[in-house]
This record gives sequence, structure tokens and C-alpha cells, in this order.
Amino acid sequence: MPTQSPIDITRGALVPLGPGPALTFRYPVGPVAVTVRFEVKDGDPAAGGVVVAPQVVVVPQEGEARVDVGEAVYQLQSLHWHTPSEHWLEGRPLPLELHLVHRRPEDGALLVLGVLYREGARNAGVAPAFDLIGGFDPAALAPDRAQEVAASLSLARLLPEARTTYRYPGSLTTAPFSEGVSWVVFTEVLEASPEQVAAHDRLVSAPTPACGSRPHPPGNARRLQDPAGRRIETDLALG
Ligand SMILES: [Zn+2]
Repeated sequence: MPTQSPIDITRGALVPLGPGPALTFRYPVGPVAVTVRFEVKDGDPAAGGVVVAPQVVVVPQEGEARVDVGEAVYQLQSLHWHTPSEHWLEGRPLPLELHLVHRRPEDGALLVLGVLYREGARNAGVAPAFDLIGGFDPAALAPDRAQEVAASLSLARLLPEARTTYRYPGSLTTAPFSEGVSWVVFTEVLEASPEQVAAHDRLVSAPTPACGSRPHPPGNARRLQDPAGRRIETDLALG
């Protein structure tokens, strides 16, 4: 059976986290230098024609942050957002989702952290990046070259305080849709302001020269995939 992402996270699919190595988030609290890029990735042809997915990508220096799974170390490579969210909760999408992409250097294995946001207060953690994205110009986004700006960001402030998670085996949600990705979605939903959500959505929904004549629906979320009987492990107390 295919094990593609994203999926709807539903109560009925949750099972208690099995025995296994503990997850440790080693994220620096202080600000680190990052590059904020606006670029286009290939999307999901199965959604109807070739679809492109514009993204705002934040790239830190190598080795700034990592997730340890027991003895295994996954280094943070980059992070990006989706409007609306890609993962759903109980049958509903949220306005915004953050993906933090980690890679194990030895074998290239991927672990992606997901953070969901509801609309509410302005999110100070994402603000150093989101305050800059208004400067990007979709009308001038070249196919082969991202727009870039330097910024400084506290990576730890991007994560929820509660460290309970949903975990399931899935895939990348943009090309090449590789499977074998360990998904870890935080159970705590953060807030972002309507203005922040709108600023991101405006950018990723706009036509760009990089998209050419290819169809480009609003937002940059891949549609839900068949859970195909997958169980979602959680360390939340299941009542
Ligand atoms: Zn993503």
C-alpha cells in the first residue's frame, strides 16, 4: 500500500506510542542567521495537470538544530510553510502549517516536524521571516532563481512548548513524493494572525513567471492522501 502524505489526523486512527527511542529536540534558543527564499517546487500532477507549489523556505546554517531519536541524529535542513495546512485535524484543515525538514547524514533518512496554526494572535516566532516576505515579488520570480533575503531567527521559538506529538510513516508532499519519511506533528496548535496567514497565502497563490502556463490553484497544500489503514502513534493521553 502507498504511504503518502498528508493525511487527516483523526481520533479513530490514534494508538498509544509504542516502545522505542525517545525524541529530543535540540533547537537553539538564541537567534541564528538564516536565508529566507521564495521559490517554486513541483507539486502534485495527480491533482490535475502539472501543478507547481510556490514556497517560502528558510535555510539555516548546517548543524544549527537537530532532532535526536535515541542515538540517531537528524539535522535540520530547511523549513517552509503551507497555506492552508496539509495535515488536517478531525476532518478539517487549519489555516497554516510549518514543516521542519531534517535529514540523517549517514543514509539520507528524512524526519519532518509539522506545526499547525489556527487564526488568532500574531505569532512572534515566525515574525522575523513573515515580516520580510512582503518584499518578495511573485511577478518577478524567475524559474531558475529564488528571491532571497538574509534574516535572523530563533529556531526554538518556532516549536510549541508542549512536546507531545502525532507520529506516522509518510512521504514528501512535493516532488519526488519519496516515501519512508518519519512524520512528527505536534499536538499543540499555535496561533498566527489573519494578516500573517494572508501574507503567506498571497505570495504562494500568486501567478509567477516560474509557474509558466502551468495550472496553479490557490495555496500550496497538497490534497489529502489515503491513510490506507495507517495508525498514528501519539504520546497524548488517549481517553
Ligand atoms: Zn511541506
